[in-house]
Amino acid sequence: FNTKGTTHPITHHRSQVDIYERLPVPFGLVRFGVAPDHPEVKNVINTFTQTAKHSRCSFFGNVNVGKNVSIAELQQAYHAVVLSYGAEGNRSMGVPGEDLDGVYSAKDFVGWYNGLPSCRELSPDLSCETAVILGQGNVALDVARILLSPIDILKKTDITQPALEALAESQVRRVLIVGRRGPIQIACTIKELREMVNLPDTRPDMVASDFDGVKEALKDLPRPRKRLTELMLKTALEVPGEKEQERRNKASRTWGFRFFRSPVEVLADISRGRIAGIRLAVNRLEGSGEGAQAVLTGEVEDVSCGLVVSSIGYKSLPIDPSVPFDSHKAIVPNTMGRIQRAAGLYCSGWLKTGPTGVIATTMNNSFDTARSLVEDMESGKLDVSAIKPGSQSIGALLEKRGVKPVTFSDWEKIDNVETKRGESSGKPREKLLTVEEMLQVAWT
Ligand code: NAP
Repeated sequence: FNTKGTTHPITHHRSQVDIYERLPVPFGLVRFGVAPDHPEVKNVINTFTQTAKHSRCSFFGNVNVGKNVSIAELQQAYHAVVLSYGAEGNRSMGVPGEDLDGVYSAKDFVGWYNGLPSCRELSPDLSCETAVILGQGNVALDVARILLSPIDILKKTDITQPALEALAESQVRRVLIVGRRGPIQIACTIKELREMVNLPDTRPDMVASDFDGVKEALKDLPRPRKRLTELMLKTALEVPGEKEQERRNKASRTWGFRFFRSPVEVLADISRGRIAGIRLAVNRLEGSGEGAQAVLTGEVEDVSCGLVVSSIGYKSLPIDPSVPFDSHKAIVPNTMGRIQRAAGLYCSGWLKTGPTGVIATTMNNSFDTARSLVEDMESGKLDVSAIKPGSQSIGALLEKRGVKPVTFSDWEKIDNVETKRGESSGKPREKLLTVEEMLQVAWT
């Protein structure tokens, strides 16, 4: 959806744009990644819907590209193919104990509370008091907020019912958000930090010495980072006013950053076959500013916890052997969205840039891809002189292979059912949680 904007193929000439999606439902990360308590971010769905309903745009859900249909077949059917399938893998910590019960990737944890069918069975064990989140990006803060939010807030969101029930029973009272570098290098943004600071029934719990020298460095920081760091300093070091102190005293849950720490081992409780804690290496910084590097000091520290969520970044995966892939950077090598050494193939979104940036960043980078495509059409680099069959030939192939696509109006039936189910419990929607259920609703 992002590839379409003001300068895009769909407003160009008489081009037809078809969107293929593995799941029966559209919107990818907006549906399955954006936190349930951020409904305003999901409003972008309205723009995507307008695009999908354009007379020259068609949506084909339930089609697994690379499996049901190959890239080569798509290239035969279309003048141009844009890959925009995001980053569904996650960076692994590469430490012993990572596979123990009680350790989850943020990707799966987020997928679980957002109703991603493949994460339905996750059922994380929330019977412990302390949870450790590794990484200090916005995803880490989303997970921390969901773990600590009062249930009355969550039950008005589109969080899934099983996640809501598990969180209502959760024993987690303390969340530590661990970063390998220092406060000046933290990856989250100010809005997400402010949400943590203001989260009802929680109080911050920081280590004052982590902020040594930070105040002095403020003056050299670029403005957004300066404001973020000031808020952290205020939260960590300032004596709060009377009202805030009272609020903090009453809070039943705590959260805090732990800086200069890298995971070295997840510790096992052998008798229970699950985790007992995490061993962290103590780091120091080499260099200054945002580019400073974490260097091991040789010291380690153990933290007891019953839940570890690894939130150290997402990663794109290759889709088809015919598409060049840079496994080191985990992206498709490209120049302004033109996939290198693959005429007629383009990419956009996190597959193009790596997993960084907010939705607006991704939209802008996708508009660049669309611009490249239009330029290539206009310059003749992309040969559009011969008619190509598009969805007609792909539809025939899929039929032969027993694959029935879900159209956008089929999705609207799912949307209707979800919204109605949500209404009865005061939620904006109650998501269908399995592909089978989605297909059943789509095709009735
Ligand atoms: P991120 O912002 O890149 O943060 C990744 C975190 O993991 C950083 O703290 C990073 O530390 C740490 N890390 C990476 N490799 C590590 C390792 N080997 N050991 C220890 N720590 C490691 O990624 P993200 O949180 O997954 O978010 C992805 C993108 O989505 C970001 O651009 C984010 O802003 C965006 N997003 C936005 C929102 C929102 O707007 N509300 C919500 C969710 C996500 P270093 O800095 O030291 O590398």
